[in-house]
Amino acid sequence: MLNIGCHLSVSKGFLAMGKQALELGGNTFQFFTRNPRGGKAKDIDKADADALLELMAENNFAKILAHAPYTLNPCSKDERTREFAFQTMADDLRRMEYLPNNLYNFHPGSHVGQGVDKGIELICELLNKVLFEDMTTTVLLETMAGKGSEVGSRFEELRAILDRVGLNRKMGVCLDTCHVFDGGYDIKDNLESVLDEFDRVIGLDRLRAIHINDSKNALGSRKDRHEKIGEGNIGLEAFGRIVTHPALCSLPFYLETPNELDGYAREIALLKSF
Ligand code: FE
Ligand code: FE
Ligand code: ZN
Repeated sequence: MLNIGCHLSVSKGFLAMGKQALELGGNTFQFFTRNPRGGKAKDIDKADADALLELMAENNFAKILAHAPYTLNPCSKDERTREFAFQTMADDLRRMEYLPNNLYNFHPGSHVGQGVDKGIELICELLNKVLFEDMTTTVLLETMAGKGSEVGSRFEELRAILDRVGLNRKMGVCLDTCHVFDGGYDIKDNLESVLDEFDRVIGLDRLRAIHINDSKNALGSRKDRHEKIGEGNIGLEAFGRIVTHPALCSLPFYLETPNELDGYAREIALLKSF
């Protein structure tokens, strides 16, 4: 059975998202931990979190994925911006313990002219402060498209981050299909060799989640514009190979395509049909 869901709005609470995921035909979902523009998160309603955990257990849910605000920049040149990223992630990870054993994904950030090596150093500095011994959440680095000065569009960069984090056993990688394609990894025509390279550089055991998105742009474009499944340059056949690949098919897949809920329901059904 395919573990699949889509990005949902957290505004009505945890249990509401779980129910919505089921209505859409899925068994997982992704949500932003707070308004992507930053700002304070709502207080956790423990009863609501417990109700979601119960619904997940009863309905064979895969792990759910909390996404950090995409505006955070852990490797900014500005110390206050980095401090804000740290405070936000520290708060998010504390709150995630109300939903134990799930996933938390973040964008490594943009080095804004400092260079990739400095960017990696700053990201690791933050991770080494924010991860804690008894946490149950797995923190995922997302593969990026390489837009602007984004860190994480090469598998080697993600490897370098993992290598320098003391508690890296709490970490993994989330592969975004649009991002890797825009970053130059040909998952459309050479899925096997991309996965071999991932395995050689990072290790497939680190791969914990897939963001499943088509791309509006060409291979290597470094653009990061998501498209509906089958309507972009990756194409439906490639997605059929991705969701059925033995190294990937048991992972949780999360749609971040430009859709309303009915569109997500159609894509979930389509991907399950493979
Ligand atoms: Fe993302
Ligand atoms: Fe993504
Ligand atoms: Zn993206």
